[in-house]
Amino acid sequence: MSTELAETGNLQRLLEQVGAGLDSYLTFEHPDAMHPGQRWRQFLDIPLPELGVGIEQVTRDLIEQVIPNGSPVPRPGFSSFITTGATSAAILAATAANVASPQRYMHTAFNFLEELSLQWLAQMFGLGPMLGVYSSGGSVANLIALGGARQSAFEKINHDPASSGVNRAVGIYASAECHHTIQRSAGVLGVGRSAVRLIKCDAGGRMRVDSLAKTLAEDKAAGILPMAIVANAGSTNTGAIDPLQALGEIAQENGIWFHVDGAYGLPGILDEEVKPQFKGLDLADSVIVDPHKWLGAAVGVAATFVRDRQLLYRAFTQEPADYLEGSVEQNQVAAQVEHSLDDLGIPYFDFGAELSSPSRGVVVWALIREIGVAGLRQRVKRHNAMARRLALLVHEHPNLEMLAEPTLSICCFRYTSPKIADLDRFNQRLHRRLVRENIYMPSTTRVQGKLALRPCYIGARAEPDQVDGLLEAVLRIGAELEPGR
Ligand SMILES: *Cc1c(COP(=O)(O)O)cnc(C)c1O
Repeated sequence: MSTELAETGNLQRLLEQVGAGLDSYLTFEHPDAMHPGQRWRQFLDIPLPELGVGIEQVTRDLIEQVIPNGSPVPRPGFSSFITTGATSAAILAATAANVASPQRYMHTAFNFLEELSLQWLAQMFGLGPMLGVYSSGGSVANLIALGGARQSAFEKINHDPASSGVNRAVGIYASAECHHTIQRSAGVLGVGRSAVRLIKCDAGGRMRVDSLAKTLAEDKAAGILPMAIVANAGSTNTGAIDPLQALGEIAQENGIWFHVDGAYGLPGILDEEVKPQFKGLDLADSVIVDPHKWLGAAVGVAATFVRDRQLLYRAFTQEPADYLEGSVEQNQVAAQVEHSLDDLGIPYFDFGAELSSPSRGVVVWALIREIGVAGLRQRVKRHNAMARRLALLVHEHPNLEMLAEPTLSICCFRYTSPKIADLDRFNQRLHRRLVRENIYMPSTTRVQGKLALRPCYIGARAEPDQVDGLLEAVLRIGAELEPGR
């Protein structure tokens, strides 16, 4: 029994123990958390304890009961959705930030890395002089970008939506393949989810420019205020990249905010083979990227970039708070800063929706510093090449059908045979067996209404041999499930 906290001098020993537990977890030799016979739930499901067990027992619980029954996401063969496990550098940096910089503000090395790493990202992805702010994920990053778009659109008609609310119906133009956080952002920003016009896509999943022009003209005639054109730079479903140049030009001609959602796909620009498809990115007013996707950051790190960060300030500033501003002197010039508390540093907390926030820049800094742009480029190219190789093999096999050619690291295909009446149901069954019985765990999606197997290669631990392993498993299970066997 323990009621006392011993809070100094024990981290090295305890982290070593937890580190060993995590290393063991990452060998993936344990059964799945929901495997029959797993007893962790009985162990963990106890009433609210009046008395504590102490840090040694908590450490043992973590190692024995919690960690081994964690998520399949970090598995090398996990290629579902667009999510991944953190790399070691990211884990170390996130842990360091938890201890040494529980907030991103105030003048510290962590605060310095916040801005430096944002600049590195902007430079690495060719965003020119754009300035950024971190948030918890693509959902909030899109919300912040569209908050900027709302501010910009209404300021043009001499209205401050942040202070007074919106006074006109707006239109947000995104493709039918846009991430649903676009609609949610519209809801949260008070312009309404129905403001999002879902523009038709071509066969490759890219927004159709002619459909956009038509919808824009209709809305203009109806007196609707255009708030933003939202382009995918790597759609979640298939990895499609919208025609950025054409969309950006339409945005420019009509004075509309141009937002590029690169939560997943922006790092794809590092691959020379795909880079030409990012032409027009320089026309964007805002761009987002999720370092916790392709870059391997610990989850909870996204970045929004904008041309004009002051606009975000006007969109998101809090009313002045005495306990914050009153406790420090604001606006010291850098040369006069002699103490970490001289002021709060760059007011990221006024550029987005979060006040308290972890220091995320250190995580991005660590993973770029570890392997450099060259290392990240190599990873992105490896993953894109895996999807392309899978596509090649799918085309060659009579029992496999390509449903969406890869643009980036996603390949959508299905098992097929003349003997199968309902291909959707068949592939759904095949998928259930695949993820239960194998180390290969793609997700499914629908492409042009058809159910597809959808591996998305994104994890730092995803290696090329998984392509052959996945195909072998799909063909074996497919043959076993085929009618008439
Ligand atoms: C993943 C994703 C998002 C949402 O990001 P989260 O980090 O999961 O909140 C938004 N847009 C696109 C294109 C995505 O792929």
